[in-house]
Amino acid sequence: MALIVQKYGGTSVGAVDRIGNVARKVKGFRDRGDDVVVVVSAMSGETNRLTDLAKSINPEMDPREADVLLSTGEQVTIALLSMALKSLGCDARSYTGAQVHIRTDSTHSKARIVDIDESKMRHDLNEGRVVVVAGFQGADEHGNITTLGRGGSDTTAVALAAALKADECQIYTDVDGVYTTDPRVVSEARRLDRITFEEMLEMASLGSKVLQIRAVEFAGKYNVPLRVLSSFEGKEGPGTLITYEEEGMEEALISGIAFNRDEAKLTIQGVPDQPGVAYRILGPIGDANIEVDMIVQNIGADGQTTDFTFTVHRNDYEKALKLLQQTATELGAREVAGDSKIVKISLVGVGMRSHAGIASTMFEALAKEGINIRMISTSEIKISVVIDEKYLELGVRALHSAFNLEQAPAAVSD
Ligand code: ADP
Ligand code: ASP
Ligand code: MG
Repeated sequence: MALIVQKYGGTSVGAVDRIGNVARKVKGFRDRGDDVVVVVSAMSGETNRLTDLAKSINPEMDPREADVLLSTGEQVTIALLSMALKSLGCDARSYTGAQVHIRTDSTHSKARIVDIDESKMRHDLNEGRVVVVAGFQGADEHGNITTLGRGGSDTTAVALAAALKADECQIYTDVDGVYTTDPRVVSEARRLDRITFEEMLEMASLGSKVLQIRAVEFAGKYNVPLRVLSSFEGKEGPGTLITYEEEGMEEALISGIAFNRDEAKLTIQGVPDQPGVAYRILGPIGDANIEVDMIVQNIGADGQTTDFTFTVHRNDYEKALKLLQQTATELGAREVAGDSKIVKISLVGVGMRSHAGIASTMFEALAKEGINIRMISTSEIKISVVIDEKYLELGVRALHSAFNLEQAPAAVSD
């Protein structure tokens, strides 16, 4: 008998018959003797629908009221799933985040969980009930409803698993595990049996939305065994275990390819090359709460001035462009240019640490397809490039095949 926290995402609870499937699946675990806490997302499309409603009233959504609104999506699914469980003869009780005391800070729309009081859930489990909790939400110390950022139900599940010291946290979704890249873009993508926390963290932060980044951070920090699996009948399997690096794991140079379609690029050309210029350019961007991702600075042809390029989230593009134009006037810059039709593709793998030549294989594969690289950044276990949006699929496929990711690497034996 185990204590399991399971999370079912939007597609898995996207229609009433799917909710019925989830209920049967959960009952199967109960019948086996496991204690189960279930976290659910809103039905697929619902969070977007609610967001559009709010924006139709005011495009600048009021942060507090937006959270009150968006949290209702999950409230619908907890009730429906609990009803479905009870109609199968499986006792269950639904709770919103606030009702099970998921306390967060007050940062509306991207709140962080600070504390969970698990006693109520334990009581229900001891009474033999399935506990059904709304994902993506909590409440701050004043009782205001907060949400945890898009994809945040993953984080709710991992946080509950950590608080309850569950034996496993299972993320059920519409694919049967973590793949070498998004299987919707590359049909040859291969499911990974295991991936390290470190790699999963990079994949999530570089755009693979199969797990929310905070969920991976949390699981790594609190040592929560985390598995990604399919919720669809006929697709059951071992899924992917997120784990610490171990001896004998697959010796892969590259574990996966992540990509991010939400990027935009801005350039300010011909600014004086003197101390403080980077601060003058990026200070106002930071003050406006705009996150900057990649940064590249080049000395201009005259040796006196510099060109400065950086990327931001596409939603922040217009705002960043206006701020940069203002800065350009102040600094007497030659020109400001922007491009919101770019994407970032990243190779991720702990094997990169001990192998040279990965970057050149990457650049060669892109060159063979005639894809121009606009920006490059590297860290110990990743290489990212910015390219034109229209080459995204071609680029990801070319890299997947250049690194033979469709084939499992040999296991190490010593
Ligand atoms: P849920 O609604 O269950 O939370 P998401 O849509 O958030 O599901 O995440 C699952 C999706 O993530 C998949 O349908 C897939 O298209 C996408 N995805 C992106 N990268 C990967 C990857 N490396 N492995 C598996 N799925 C991926
Ligand atoms: N419903 C929220 C979203 O669509 C949270 C989640 O699904 O994890 O982002
Ligand atoms: Mg998700």
